[in-house]
Amino acid sequence: MGSELGAVVDAIRANDRFLLVTHENPDGDALGSILATKLALDTFGKDSVMFVGGELTLPPEYDFMPLDGLSRTLPDDAAERVIVALDSATAPRTQLPPELLEAAPLTIDVDHHHDNTRYGRINLIVPEASSTGEIVRDLLAELGVELTPAIAEALYVAVDTDTGKFQYTNTTPKAHRLAAELLEQGVAAYEVFREIYESVPFERQQLIGKALSRARRYEEDRMIASYLLRADFEELGVGEEYAEGVIDELRKVNGVELAMTVREPPEPPGAPRRISMRSASDALDVSAIARQRGGGGHRRAAGFSSDETIEEIIEFVRGQFADATARA
Ligand code: 5GP
Ligand code: MN
Repeated sequence: MGSELGAVVDAIRANDRFLLVTHENPDGDALGSILATKLALDTFGKDSVMFVGGELTLPPEYDFMPLDGLSRTLPDDAAERVIVALDSATAPRTQLPPELLEAAPLTIDVDHHHDNTRYGRINLIVPEASSTGEIVRDLLAELGVELTPAIAEALYVAVDTDTGKFQYTNTTPKAHRLAAELLEQGVAAYEVFREIYESVPFERQQLIGKALSRARRYEEDRMIASYLLRADFEELGVGEEYAEGVIDELRKVNGVELAMTVREPPEPPGAPRRISMRSASDALDVSAIARQRGGGGHRRAAGFSSDETIEEIIEFVRGQFADATARA
């Protein structure tokens, strides 16, 4: 057992009250990991609270998950709880006040982002893990937690979404073995697929339509970019969470090596624009581009925020892409 894994196991055994957190604007890995950890701690009778910061509504495709206990505000006794941060590469992404992170009796950082800043006292960072859910599974095994059907389903959501339904380059034999184990515990893969991928709100498809109709290609069609305006979200009456997945429709275009979207969050008014980038190969590291503007992520999926205009942002990424591909 790795020493960090052992340290996390010891810390969980030795403490009774936990605050489980993940990144703002959570995805399936974030929600699956936090829920699986919560359900596992419940089996030991440990008191844990799930917290997601930020203002955004959770993406609608995860409505089927039993996340009713998830809190958007901090409990009064937050400062007395051991913090377990899951799938969050940096401390600010948890949206926890810095004073709380300072005051916490202990912070445990569990993640698979290669650029994790190791902001915990214990840092269980496994960049080769397909998902944070995969790390949580190993942790639960060390803790001797049995996989109930509910825990198995939460872990399945984590690994299924972060591997792009077992298709991205992080789809390892270990990820498939984990999936097999979860199916043996009763996960209904087809039901999960229907809930996450085939219950698409009509407004999401309309956002995709707008983004596709505005998409432009650059650099000999090796880069594609599009944008969603505040007015688009207002017209459809939906929040920013409905834009999840729009970028995948750009990335799949023939010949594209870098896809990007710029979106103007409908709330709060005047919030900086949010940029998502996807790379079609490991040779092009979009997290390096994102870091230059204070963001981050994975080599092939990264993002940042910016107050620049849409044109300026696209020009910046275009210049970075041209430099990176000239060097390669
Ligand atoms: P998405 O484009 O889906 O919002 O994000 C893709 C990846 O980039 C995720 O792994 C996410 O954690 C990371 N990411 C997106 N925005 C930011 C950001 O502002 N800061 C950091 N550090 N990572 C980000
Ligand atoms: Mn993840």
